[in-house]
Amino acid sequence: MTTAERFEERLRSYLRESSEEARAVRVGEKEVSEHAAIVARFSDLFTREQHAELGEAEAVAEADERERLLRLREACAGGIASLELADAYDELQNAVLAERIDFRGESLPLRSAQAKVAVLAVYGEREELGTLAADASARFNDRRLDLMRRGEALDAELSGEVDPVRRSADLKQVDLFELAETLTEAAERQQDAFEALSERWVARLLGDERDAEPASFHVAYIRRMSPLADLYTKERAVPVCLETLGRLGFDLAGESRIRLDLDDRPQKNPRACVIASDPPELVHLITRAQGGLHDYQAFLHEAGHALHYAGCDPALPYTFRRLARDHALTEIYSFLVESVSREPGWHAEHFTLRADEAEERAESTRFLEVLLFRRYAAKLGFELELWSDFEHAPDYAPVYAERLREATGFRYRPDGYLADLDDGFYSADYLRAWIRTAQVRAHLRQRVGADWWERAETGEFLRGLFREGTRPSSEEIAARVGYDPLDTGPLLDELVLAQ
Ligand SMILES: [Zn+2]
Repeated sequence: MTTAERFEERLRSYLRESSEEARAVRVGEKEVSEHAAIVARFSDLFTREQHAELGEAEAVAEADERERLLRLREACAGGIASLELADAYDELQNAVLAERIDFRGESLPLRSAQAKVAVLAVYGEREELGTLAADASARFNDRRLDLMRRGEALDAELSGEVDPVRRSADLKQVDLFELAETLTEAAERQQDAFEALSERWVARLLGDERDAEPASFHVAYIRRMSPLADLYTKERAVPVCLETLGRLGFDLAGESRIRLDLDDRPQKNPRACVIASDPPELVHLITRAQGGLHDYQAFLHEAGHALHYAGCDPALPYTFRRLARDHALTEIYSFLVESVSREPGWHAEHFTLRADEAEERAESTRFLEVLLFRRYAAKLGFELELWSDFEHAPDYAPVYAERLREATGFRYRPDGYLADLDDGFYSADYLRAWIRTAQVRAHLRQRVGADWWERAETGEFLRGLFREGTRPSSEEIAARVGYDPLDTGPLLDELVLAQ
């Protein structure tokens, strides 16, 4: 057994254990994270010697083996960072978990408060609780920044690349500035359509008490489509989603490799997620339904990830079942499955609506989609500015607020700039998936038909891709469906011309 093989095998045990720990904390089964203790037990994996050895093997390897070694080396670097920052990270996470907010005589954990903002019916109450939660979250900014600085210094050292933008671009194998430019153009071309949609839907969803420029807290509320929530009940979310997946030929409930956690616990993070502890055998799908269309969309989104991980070929090397250069591939599958909820036919069928009502519901989801797309395109622009001059990070807090305000029409707080920042340019991965999923849908509409969203052929097509695990890049998928990776034509067709 080579060093790399031994490393891969032990990495698998480590990732399984640490994923299970992260899951327990995230779902509120445990109040204190003991991640640091797990990393310490596997500390032999995450050393600079090991990192160098993997790098040396990579330098003389070819093709798939080289790619595999690169991903193992990246995982090793990630582990070294975890090991060195685990205590500080745990401390911050535990402090956030312990943080409470007093709201109208009630003491709420910060996480519950953030979840509650999305479901409060009264505009003024959302303003009040949103402000309290944002104040509380911003109090952790110094610690967030300190952790980021330490992480950045380590990444620079291990990769030998001091420029964080170039480092991410090399890893993702895309030009991030070119991507951002393409997206800015796309956002400009949909400007008028977005304004028309926004005028209609913001008024309808937020009502007459709204400010000319509402605070960003209301975006969470809008995402849930709360005023229309009566139709999309909490109780029906799971059965409707299982039925939706069934049409595509996926039996999620009968799939023993995917563990569903649908319980409601006070400390459970309201954000749905998938934790692929050991794919394809052990994959968790976690959601916390609160009522509203968002539950359905979040469930379908995570189901796309879960089916991808649980659907990979078990004969693939572990690396190509679990490790990726980034998240751009798996987000294609989640975005695609989620997008079924933007089909008028889906609303008509599952919620017994007339055609015009279903059209209207579908339009509301399209509004959300454009809003989120624009938010992420703006986030990427901000992140490129921030990371190009990371030394002066706090100077970019106003840039964050201004870029997001301009793109979405909502008022963002400058001091939210760190809490809203995802690691490693995740925003770029989402945006590549946005472009790609529209390309895949265009392909499916042509190959399977306009009803691709309820045809088993779509499931067959996806199953073929799932088998390849995490090996392909997002850009390779573009080639499979016959598009240039940066072709935003299909995306604009859906989001603009659909007007
Ligand atoms: Zn996702």
